[in-house]
Amino acid sequence: MSDEENERAALAEKLRHYGRDELKDGSLLRTLKDVTGGATWRDCLLRLADMADPVCSNVGGGEWPFRCSACGGHTTEFDHMFPPPEAKAEAERMLRDALDLADDCRIVSAHSSEPRYCPWCGARVVEVDE
Ligand SMILES: [Zn+2]
Repeated sequence: MSDEENERAALAEKLRHYGRDELKDGSLLRTLKDVTGGATWRDCLLRLADMADPVCSNVGGGEWPFRCSACGGHTTEFDHMFPPPEAKAEAERMLRDALDLADDCRIVSAHSSEPRYCPWCGARVVEVDE
């Protein structure tokens, strides 16, 4: 288990503990502070959101096709080119033939060379407004 997975599991276990028991000092805020380590209610809620849906962005710049802002993991040019463009074009041609579609019928692929989740830490990749 990674450090983040351990941290997430520990947080979930504290939530379950309080969920089965009582709130800390009868206060939801004190409970959330104890569970998350946050100093304010905003800190607590943002920390829970980060645990529930960790996000990162592509900071590969020109060096890597994808580099994770959260963990630093990156893809190589080979990963970025999967599937190779010629293989994708051939698959689309075969599908058009099989479905008896016109040659100019465009087939939209669900595949993206940009990962939706970081392959290393699992964070959801989001675009960051610059
Ligand atoms: Zn990552």
